[in-house]
Amino acid sequence: MSLIVILGGGESGVGAAMLAKREGFDVFVSDYGKIGEQFKEDLNQHKVRFEESGHTFEIIGKAQLVVKSPGIPEHAQIVKQLREQGIDIVSEIEFASRYCKGKVIGITGSNGKTTTTLLTHHLISRAGVSVGIGGNIGNSFARLLVEEEPKDIYVLEISSFQLDDVSSFAPDISVILNITADHLDRYDGDMYKYGAAKLEITKYQNNDQILIMNGDDTWTNKLLGEFKPKMRTIAIHFDNYKDTQLTTVSGEKIETKNSSLRGEHNRFNTLCATEICVALGIDIELIESGLKSFKNAPHRLESVAVIDKVEYINDSKATNVESVYYALLAMDQPIVWIAGGKDKGNDYSSIAKFVEQKVKAIICLGVDNEKLLDAFTPIIKVIEETQDTNEALRMAQSYAQAGDVVMLSPACASFDLFNNYEHRGELFKKAVFDLLR
Ligand code: ADP
Repeated sequence: MSLIVILGGGESGVGAAMLAKREGFDVFVSDYGKIGEQFKEDLNQHKVRFEESGHTFEIIGKAQLVVKSPGIPEHAQIVKQLREQGIDIVSEIEFASRYCKGKVIGITGSNGKTTTTLLTHHLISRAGVSVGIGGNIGNSFARLLVEEEPKDIYVLEISSFQLDDVSSFAPDISVILNITADHLDRYDGDMYKYGAAKLEITKYQNNDQILIMNGDDTWTNKLLGEFKPKMRTIAIHFDNYKDTQLTTVSGEKIETKNSSLRGEHNRFNTLCATEICVALGIDIELIESGLKSFKNAPHRLESVAVIDKVEYINDSKATNVESVYYALLAMDQPIVWIAGGKDKGNDYSSIAKFVEQKVKAIICLGVDNEKLLDAFTPIIKVIEETQDTNEALRMAQSYAQAGDVVMLSPACASFDLFNNYEHRGELFKKAVFDLLR
């Protein structure tokens, strides 16, 4: 029996292990760190051998194929060793796609992936089509194929890391929402490398397949011009959506007045999800009614409460500068902005003018706030620092007046003070509710 080794025992690794086992391979999972208890249970249940806290090359080196989890960087010692030996390495998305019979919609981009993936899934399922959702959100693609009944369509959120080792993965419909600076630490600080990783989603598509892309996005246009992939391209522009109506590329008008999604960025995400549905042949009335019933996931411009006519908004998922730009754009009211956390190489110059116009006070909530202080001390009079969420809220409340918003939109990762962005958002919400008492 040929051996498949899975590097990494997280959601994608365990999903790939379960799928490989189902397909009759000898499977071995190896993780350099600890494997979570739930994942170990999954592996035991599926009778998959595994090791943790280190890699045994004597076993791994015998693999016919290695499935590498997206978190493992190219410079990891084990990856280098495998490359030297010439062992084939693929990503979990690539591996799973080889065993998928349904249509695949792959959604990537720097921002808006989760929202667009959830909305697309909602619209398709509301239209009565059997559809699965996963990838970088919820269950891994491989796990979906093992644990759920086969679906006609799979909507997958795909990060650039998951595209690092694909060799045939070709979605029926791919989406590149935008390519803006994020995760540059993984790509030697090189935008070109990061953008090229995202373009991998189109690399193996044929001319019957479709790419839906942001026609206004500089990097996507530049890289498409250079790589010239074969699929049919549908370019979407922000101005295809005016007031409460959007127009699809083929000219259909869709009413959106009952959509709960807020902000210019979400209008773009809506255009993309709608265009996917049109490409799948879903009726306009069904799309309109699905847009009405959709509720976005928490931590994305989530309105938490209004206290003394001040609205409190949790946008904890805004972990880069670009997403803060759109959050600021979505607000008409003066803003008390809570920002900060683990810096990912941020350059705030692109939002400086905007902050100057819209923000009346900044509360820095992070261990090291130097970048924020450097960027905004010259232009914003009130800047405070704290490492405590409750205190951040009390400070924000003291600067906010009726008609203002207090918005947590950090522009940074959360790992300095919190476990993850959800943890940060939950503590923010709890602190808001504490203010209410
Ligand atoms: P992702 O899964 O790519 O991180 P999400 O849908 O979770 O994207 O949204 C993350 C943040 O990015 C949101 O808080 C929002 O402020 C911002 N955002 C969402 N969609 C877009 C978009 N199309 N362009 C720019 N920013 C966006």
